Amino acid sequence: MKQGPRIITVANQKGGVGKTTTAINLATALAAIGERVLIVDLDPQGNASTGLGIDKQDRKVSSYDVLTGELTIGEAAIATAVPGLSIVPSTLDLLGVEMEIASAPDRVLRLRNALSRNTAEETGFSYVLIDCPPSLNLLTLNSMAAADSVLVPLQCEFFALEGLSQLLETVEQVRRSINPSLTIQGIVLTMFDRRNNLANQVVEDVRAHMGEKVYETIIPRNVRVSEAPSHGKPAILYDLACAGSQAYLQLASEVIRRERRLQAA
Ligand code: ADP
Ligand code: MG
Repeated sequence: MKQGPRIITVANQKGGVGKTTTAINLATALAAIGERVLIVDLDPQGNASTGLGIDKQDRKVSSYDVLTGELTIGEAAIATAVPGLSIVPSTLDLLGVEMEIASAPDRVLRLRNALSRNTAEETGFSYVLIDCPPSLNLLTLNSMAAADSVLVPLQCEFFALEGLSQLLETVEQVRRSINPSLTIQGIVLTMFDRRNNLANQVVEDVRAHMGEKVYETIIPRNVRVSEAPSHGKPAILYDLACAGSQAYLQLASEVIRRERRLQAA
């Protein structure tokens, strides 16, 4: 069995589908049950960092430093206000990193190597969640090369399935080339509005196409969830009782169940 933290990358090349919201709230839920959790913010926009209350001027270290080999994961991880949850924040420097490492032979393996250099004993993390940019670029490839599994948020809208086959094909390529044990953790339907007939149809379609890969939990569209980032807090801390937070807690228990199964396999 592999040592070290379970590494889950939250990926979808579409923007605005709930990647960052899912990464933050899943991480918070895992931390709340006593896991030691690290988020690696790989999106130059830095929404996960902002949403966890890390102001831009406080980002003295970043995932850029990790990818360029300047810092170890342990050195680049900073504590958040959530007990048990740390983050490697991102800065706009990340926009240039693809060019900078493009010709390095290990360009796709930068994050993987950084994560494996720090043993579990050194950093103590039991889970690492990676928040990807809305692109299948070198950053996302780095995340897939480093991860045990991929968690895919899909927004309940008409074009939900569009782009999914390209994402799954990329996972397959990564599996064939650099990370044979990479699996799909699951697909989570987000921003569901049950009054919307189309949304109900989307849920049916996605379940019909993707079967048991789709989590039972569906994340509802919830105004409290969308307000939380502007307060620098995960929804689960901002309003634990709201439907969105409760759904993320439920998702966390499904993720854990699947991780245990994957780990045992
Ligand atoms: P991504 O990281 O895929 O670009 P985000 O997680 O940033 O997507 O979500 C996009 C926008 O939708 C954000 O403004 C976020 O606050 C909002 N949002 C995400 N999930 C929900 C939800 N369940 N209910 C309401 N708003 C949400
Ligand atoms: Mg995002």
